[in-house]
Amino acid sequence: MPELAEVEYYRKQWDPGIGETVERIRTHPAARVFRDTPAAAIRRGLEGTRFLASHAHGKQMMFAFSGDTWLGLHLGMSGELKTAPPDSLPEKHDHLVLALASVSLVFRDPRMFGKVTLERTDDGEAPVWWRELPPQPLDPGFTKTRVRDFARRFPKTPVKTLLLDQRGFPGIGNWMADEICWQMRIAPHLPTGEMDESTLDALWKTTRRISREALRVIGTDWGDPGDTWLMNHRWRDGGICPRRGCKTELVRADLRGRTTCWCPVCQG
Ligand SMILES: [Zn+2]
Repeated sequence: MPELAEVEYYRKQWDPGIGETVERIRTHPAARVFRDTPAAAIRRGLEGTRFLASHAHGKQMMFAFSGDTWLGLHLGMSGELKTAPPDSLPEKHDHLVLALASVSLVFRDPRMFGKVTLERTDDGEAPVWWRELPPQPLDPGFTKTRVRDFARRFPKTPVKTLLLDQRGFPGIGNWMADEICWQMRIAPHLPTGEMDESTLDALWKTTRRISREALRVIGTDWGDPGDTWLMNHRWRDGGICPRRGCKTELVRADLRGRTTCWCPVCQG
């Protein structure tokens, strides 16, 4: 599932079309991705507008078009953004294709947990809900105090589960949450109420560091953070803790409905 850095990567994929006008729109109208805004409304609202800018926030994206028209996009489990030649036909899972003069902007989503919305505003600003999204890990508003206060609201919640809460940690998803716990050497199931102030400060700091590094490596050109991160080891059975001198077999188990991976020694 796309998280902070993957979403940032996908956001930029449509940028070659910035400044161009939407000439034709193709949709799969019955696709579940149009559950909030019907495909017909998106076609009507976007045709003839000019693509102005792209924005990402956590796991969400917002594309600005002329006429104060805002296309919201959530990639869900399996969504992707890509470009195609302007006259190419949509493939099976290409549910939304905006044909501009020199390029087509494609939203592809095989599992259709993703979502497309279209809104108009009248003040030149993005919709209110977008402007009111909580601060992302690298935003100035994402402070130590904010993280402490957020954690204190949910003392019984496992720290891994807290990290997945988009109200507190927008953009953090399953692999990043596991990575943060592993790099901090804390058990993912540790209740946040058992974390003292300095551990919560470390949670803030580690969240920011991993977000920064993921954006730098994955968000730019889908690079690989390397084998010293848990990330590359957590997907497969029999994965081994990559920490120098540990090499213990990693554990994978369900934690509040999400597959969680950790090292029973480093994070014991
Ligand atoms: Zn270990």
